Amino acid sequence: MIIKSAKFISSATKPGNYPPPELPEIAFAGRSNVGKSSLINSLLKRKKLVKTSSTPGRTQLLNFFEVNESLVFVDLPGYGYAKVSKEMRKKWGQMIETFITTRKTLHGVVLILDLRRIPGGQERENLAWFDMNNIPVILAATKADKFSRQRQLVQQKEMAKALGIPLDLIHVFSAKTGQGRDELWESILDLCEI
Ligand code: GDP
Repeated sequence: MIIKSAKFISSATKPGNYPPPELPEIAFAGRSNVGKSSLINSLLKRKKLVKTSSTPGRTQLLNFFEVNESLVFVDLPGYGYAKVSKEMRKKWGQMIETFITTRKTLHGVVLILDLRRIPGGQERENLAWFDMNNIPVILAATKADKFSRQRQLVQQKEMAKALGIPLDLIHVFSAKTGQGRDELWESILDLCEI
């Protein structure tokens, strides 16, 4: 995918502040520190468009980015940061849930996992929830550069087994090397029907 333009549009916490629903949208979700900002920056070939959170859980807004004047990336706040109060976690959950269940232009969600971590109950619950709400999900397992190719496949298999899904539904990715970038773009464009 050749990126001709990628620009920040706006931030929002509630529907009244979302940008007009004009272009197909893809949202990005993942645990704080999983590598979400790096993955988005890598897809967009921009070093710092999406600010990487050195303090996990700092970004508490929905951030909208327009790409090639043809689709919109929505960076959802990272979840699961232990030091955040229960109250705050609940608010984030509601903000994300409202966006995902009401946004008509949302074509799907890229759920980002760490290839080094075998997903558990939380991730299975998330997948079931997206499924229940008829939201297509693309799974990206990032930080693949931490492993040899052989070991990547072992991890990918373990992850697929833990989630109860076919192996090829997990995109192995690395923001550091660009591995998996083209395949991930292909799936995103497919979902957006571009
Ligand atoms: P976010 O909080 O999910 O947005 O995560 P960041 O993108 O800020 O990344 C968290 C940490 O993981 C940072 O130290 C990144 O440099 C590192 N990181 C992110 N992606 C990769 C990757 O593909 N490979 C490696 N080796 N490190 C990564």
